[in-house]
Amino acid sequence: MTSLVDGYLSHITSACAADLSGAVADYIPELAQVDPEGYGLSLCVHDGHIYSRGDSSVEFTIQSISKPLTYALALSRLGYVQVDTKIGVEPSGEAFNEISVDDRLRPKNPMINAGAILTASMLLPPVRDVAPQTVDEIFDELVAFYSACAGRQLSLDPAVYGSEAATGARNRAIAYMLDSFGVIDTDPEAALDLYYRQCSLRVTTDDLAVIGCTIANGGVNPRTGRQVLNQEVAQRVLSVMTTCGMYDGAGDWVSSVGLPAKSGVGGGILAILPGQLGIGVYSPRLDRHGNSVRGIDTCRHLSTDLGLHMFNLT
Ligand code: GLU
Repeated sequence: MTSLVDGYLSHITSACAADLSGAVADYIPELAQVDPEGYGLSLCVHDGHIYSRGDSSVEFTIQSISKPLTYALALSRLGYVQVDTKIGVEPSGEAFNEISVDDRLRPKNPMINAGAILTASMLLPPVRDVAPQTVDEIFDELVAFYSACAGRQLSLDPAVYGSEAATGARNRAIAYMLDSFGVIDTDPEAALDLYYRQCSLRVTTDDLAVIGCTIANGGVNPRTGRQVLNQEVAQRVLSVMTTCGMYDGAGDWVSSVGLPAKSGVGGGILAILPGQLGIGVYSPRLDRHGNSVRGIDTCRHLSTDLGLHMFNLT
């Protein structure tokens, strides 16, 4: 069985490797300098076994794939009522860094930057001057949560973090817009700092596959057996990933691949088959929406060949 799966994964990665289209993110030097050829694929199945191909142990920054995880942490800590009062669950159909809110002044969903920065802000104490050591403590809790989902200790890429913080004018504009609407209850700079740090955590495709399988399993990490989030939270996270996870390419993705997913500009994609499987793919060349070109192609192959589309009727 194992060699059958391995053979199949080798077959689809060889087919997808030929596509050299797209471009690596270049808004910060650290992302512009990554090897554009990098390509890894991992699948974690419900018994915790990981099937990997290519650069599955190469670390890259999680970037926006952090958004569903911080959302899960906020929901677990604060509950739905508090989180839903501040952040919607409607697809925005706009770019991830769009400066927009709904008619109740809520960011439309937690997968766009406005929603993600507000989610991070909700983990911080409701005071205007948050001490740097408080941000450190909350970040430690966040890393502990992400690590529990991945089943290993994750760490920060300090160079990416430094560059994200130095070049984040658009994200600062978003945070201060939310602040001007009176919806940020904490120090906007501390919220941005926490957001930049979460985006700068290093992961591998093996990590993404385990994180995905943990969510697929209703919050139980299949490798450690630990319940790291509850089932209701996992269900909500899967729902917003389905409708809002792939930037403004979400509709195309749901039609052709049909799995809850989240991508990041670091080149990673996390895709999940609820109850069954976590998929992690990495290839840093991105399409115009900011999604990994080979990552999307790989997931399309997996979905079609293995009948993974959530509305598969065959
Ligand atoms: N750090 C990036 C930003 O907020 C994340 C972008 C992404 O992966 O979409 O601009």
